[in-house]
Amino acid sequence: MRYTKLGLGLVSCLFVGVGLWALWIFSENWLPVSYVSYYLPCPEIFNMKLQYKGEKTFQAMTQLHYPQPKLLEQRPTKLLTLTPWLAPIISEGTFDPTLLHSIYQPLNLTIGLTVFAVGRYVHFIQHFLESAEAFFMQGYLVHYYVFTDNPAAIPRVPLGPGRLLSVIPILGYPRWEEISMRRMETISQLIAKRAHHEVNYLFCLDVDMVFRNSWGPETLGDMVAAIHPGYYAVPRQQFPYERRRVSTAFVDDNEGDFYYGGAVFGGRVAKVYEFTSGCHMAILTDKANGIMAAWQEESHLNRRFITHKPSKVLSPEYLWDDRKPQPPTLKLIRFSTLDKETSWLRG
Ligand code: UDP
Ligand code: MN
Repeated sequence: MRYTKLGLGLVSCLFVGVGLWALWIFSENWLPVSYVSYYLPCPEIFNMKLQYKGEKTFQAMTQLHYPQPKLLEQRPTKLLTLTPWLAPIISEGTFDPTLLHSIYQPLNLTIGLTVFAVGRYVHFIQHFLESAEAFFMQGYLVHYYVFTDNPAAIPRVPLGPGRLLSVIPILGYPRWEEISMRRMETISQLIAKRAHHEVNYLFCLDVDMVFRNSWGPETLGDMVAAIHPGYYAVPRQQFPYERRRVSTAFVDDNEGDFYYGGAVFGGRVAKVYEFTSGCHMAILTDKANGIMAAWQEESHLNRRFITHKPSKVLSPEYLWDDRKPQPPTLKLIRFSTLDKETSWLRG
């Protein structure tokens, strides 16, 4: 008797089960929305409104009017716009500043800038900072890191909202080559100590220069190099790479893409850490072997960019030299070396 009841129970369970299964299959095919429970372990997340930083960007972009990109239209500039490894080469006419601003501005990025003003080079810092306040990353959060052996000599240049400056004391070295070479080490230490959580991107620039036009988010990338103004029209065999095999900066005649300037590099802060510590190691190895590369850290930077290609390349608009006339291919100069009296500075 008990067993018959149990059997009946089992059979009815089976019926109910089969019935429910049939209803499930039917509803899956006929309901407007299919609901697959095992696929959604946390259905409650669908009641939450997803918030992410890019949302504002899309809102801003829907209201934005900008010219349509045209695949078949001639290039807007005579300069090359893409490297053979598909990194964009940035120059005037290759990007839409308004569109880029609407993409990058809502991301709330902080851009760091390191600059060294050691010994007589403190003379340059005022003009450098004033021009950076006028043109560098306007409308973004900016953190200047000024390294100097003479903090008292750093002028108090008024900074715009969201921009701050840290003066970082360092030792001065008697030889200018040593000061210049030490930058890779100092920058990597700065990133490890503090900059990695203070900034998203970091640019490392020479101080004997001024900004003359806008330098904006078009320059942001994982790892960014700038083409040297002196060698953009020169065959690679004539690039002033380190040619002695004994140096870690050695570059063979058939190697090299562009000759990059040591006065401008940058990128995402973690990438700049890898880059500067890699260059520093190479410099230390050379030192141990009693050799200094032809153009010091610029030689090491160029060596490294051959094996670790930059993800973005800045045209010489971003690294010009006032001693050279502006060629017609360059529509504007954004950052340029001052015509300095080297014997006085390095004397
Ligand atoms: N520098 C410095 N004091 C010196 C020598 C160099 O502060 O006595 C720093 C400064 O930021 C300078 C950079 O190192 O811009 C590179 O040196 P320099 O500009 O003389 O090199 P160049 O551009 O002529 O290759
Ligand atoms: Mn310089």
